[in-house]
This record gives sequence, structure tokens and C-alpha cells, in this order.
Amino acid sequence: MSKADALPGFYLLAKPTGAACNLGCKYCFFLSKKNLYPKSSFRMPDELLETYIRQYLEAQKIPHATIAWQGGEPTLMGLEFFKRSIQYQRKYKRPKMTIQNSMQTNGTLLDDEWCEFFRQNNFLIGLSLDGPRELHDAYRVDKAGNPTFDRVMRAARLLRKHKVDYNILTTVHAANADHPLDVYRFLRDEVKANFIQFIPIVERDNDTGFQEGETVTDRSVKADQYGRFLIAIFNDWVRRDVGRVFVQIFDVALAAWAGAPSGICAFSPTCGTAMAMEHNGDMYSCDHFVEPKYFLGNIKAKHMAQIAVSKKQQKFGRDKLDALPEYCRQCNVKFVCNGECPKNRFIKTPDGEPGLNYLCAGYKEFFRHIDGPMRFMAHQLRVGRAPADIMNYTKNGRISQVIFKPGRNDPCPCGSGLKFKKCHGKAG
Ligand code: SF4
Ligand code: SF4
Repeated sequence: MSKADALPGFYLLAKPTGAACNLGCKYCFFLSKKNLYPKSSFRMPDELLETYIRQYLEAQKIPHATIAWQGGEPTLMGLEFFKRSIQYQRKYKRPKMTIQNSMQTNGTLLDDEWCEFFRQNNFLIGLSLDGPRELHDAYRVDKAGNPTFDRVMRAARLLRKHKVDYNILTTVHAANADHPLDVYRFLRDEVKANFIQFIPIVERDNDTGFQEGETVTDRSVKADQYGRFLIAIFNDWVRRDVGRVFVQIFDVALAAWAGAPSGICAFSPTCGTAMAMEHNGDMYSCDHFVEPKYFLGNIKAKHMAQIAVSKKQQKFGRDKLDALPEYCRQCNVKFVCNGECPKNRFIKTPDGEPGLNYLCAGYKEFFRHIDGPMRFMAHQLRVGRAPADIMNYTKNGRISQVIFKPGRNDPCPCGSGLKFKKCHGKAG
């Protein structure tokens, strides 16, 4: 275990039901992972649960541990499984160690008992919801193809009723990408979400379910569409919601402009400290790379701390930086983007170098657009003032050029669709 000292802490997404799920979301990248375990029951046995909790807590050299449950759909394990996991956490935690459990769920199986348990044990819940009814139901359907919107909204109400900490995870795809404000305002005003995470759907079109091939499905968001989606929401957020609604990619950006690490693997220069563990103890390099090529070992045969520092995994993490194309290295928003996640790096740069991110054009546009406001908010942080002060400069929908400095021919940051010189730029 000595090598484990090199890694003070790492993150592991545990999948107690593997790819098993009660829904059949059309864009889900994980359902096909069932094929990796043809005869499995897709249930983590109790002794493996205990081994997992023990090893994970032993491996964390920092005083805080995050135990992350994901799927498939983790609630299919039943509440008793998670009650036992809490018992094991109490058994193996070191004195003064704090533990936070988090769970990503589709919410459809939640009831009062689940929510009471979450509240009592301080779980942070990630609830998947893609926007208002027709946008959510476009792809998030059950196995029979029935819509799930009402069941997810019921879960949101239950979580609120029991005062469970939760955030909303919204995927951005062909069906909702052209409706940014409908999505954002719905989440903010109807769902009362304070924490929102947008995940772009970039789904490779192949039969393997692996990260291979250069074409994407029709459900995938387009790069420029994703950029416009983020810009429209940012323009709304920066006028009225700073400090009140937390949107993960805006937080990531503010950290970067303030010179702090992003804390999110996709926007960090390297990665490799967020692995995935299947229901049978198999560990893989990342949730997005649960593929034979990225298999690292099984925790029944080897302590996960050793697996986490294996040469193979270290290389996986370093490759994120080593394989960055020259185009990204020269990019003026590299400090915040860092080429984003390697899973999306499958197009060529304008001069033909492979490994450019499929979403590059969108990220470039978005990060350049927010430069002015981010500079302002980062400055506020540096001088000990609230970034939310920016809203004093964006009152009544008017945007000070002190904050936004678009060129005359750029789209006006107010979102009107007009050129800046014909809109707010005209008024000077
Ligand atoms: S491959 Fe992507 S999602 Fe996986 S750890 Fe690296 S940056 Fe994060
Ligand atoms: S915006 Fe594009 S070029 Fe710049 S770092 Fe990101 S992926 Fe690379």
C-alpha cells in the first residue's frame, strides 16, 4: 500500500447495479455496458459492499471522503443496501473523518422513506431532469417507451419536502439545445433548483457502445448549438441569479478566471483521479471508459489504492494533457477549457491534427463571450467583494460595456440576435 501515499485522495463512482436501470433513456451511454457482463445478476453482493467501503476509506489520506453512487439506477438495490453501506462507513471510518454520500438517480423509485434516509444521512442527490415536460420526455422514457416527466417531478417535490440537498443534472441534446431559456427558467422557477449541471450529449454512432468512431447520433448536441445554449443561459443568469443559482460550468469558469483549479476533471489539464467501479468490483479508468481496454483490476484481487496509482491509470490521466493538439495549446481560452474531456476529442483541427474536441467551436464561443463578466467577478473575488455585485451593472436588462466588450459586428450580449452595433452598441 505504500504507493498509495502518492495519491492523497481519489474519486470513485460505484455502480452497485452496473448498467441495470428501470428506464430506457434513448441517449444513455451506459445501458450497453450490460454486454460486458452477460450472465450477471447486476447486484453488488454484501461482502463486496463491505470490501469496497473498507478499501475506499483506507485509501483516502485526506480527512474527507466522498462516496458516490451511480448506475444504471442505484436505487434498484433497495434501501436496505444503502443502510448497510452506512453501517460499514461507521465501522471503517477513521476518527475525525467526514463522509459525504452522493447519488445520481433518475428519481422514479423515490418515496418518503428514501428521502427521509437521504436527509438523515446527509446524502447529496443528483436528479436527472432535462427541462419542461416535452423536452424532458423527448429521450427520457422508461423501458416501455412511456414518458417519465411526472415521476421525476414527483421526486423533486419529495426531495424538497424532506429538505434533502439535491442538484439537477440536465443533459443538453438535439431536443432541448435550442430552448436554453425554457430549460433554465423552468429549472430555476418551477423546480426551484439552486444547483444545475449541464452535460452535453455527444453520443458516438457505433454498435459497440465504446468511445470509438468519428460520427455522432442525431440526438447529440452540435458544437455551436451548445455554445449558444450556454451563452443564452449565462446572459440570463448574470443579470439576476449570480450567488443564487449555481451552474456548474459558470463556477468552473469563475474559478479559472480567478486562477484557481476547476475541480472538475473535464476542465482540468490532466485527469485520472475519478474512476468507476462495476457491481462486481471491476475498476475502470473512468465512468466514460468502462471498456475492456481501460480495465484496471478487481478490488477482490488488489487493493483499490494500488489500482488507483497503477502506471496504466497514471498514463490515462497524463494522456489528457500529452495528447492535447497544438491548436488547443495556442488557444486563448485553454486556461479554462483545457481541451475538455478526452471522450469528446475525435475531430481534426483546422490544420488536420487529430484529437480536437467535438465541442470546441461551442466552448470557444462561450468562453470568449463570458470573458468580460468573468474578469469582473474574478476581480471582485480578489478584492474580497461579492461576484454578485455584477448584477448592479446589468440592471434592467442593460449591459455595461465595462463588463461586456463585444466587437461591433459580434452578436449583442443581450441575446437579441442583432449585431452589437445595431443593438446595445448603437446606444453606446
Ligand atoms: S476521461 Fe473525461 S470524464 Fe473521464 S476522468 Fe478524464 S476528463 Fe473526466
Ligand atoms: S476551446 Fe477548442 S481549441 Fe480552445 S482549448 Fe477548448 S477545445 Fe481546445
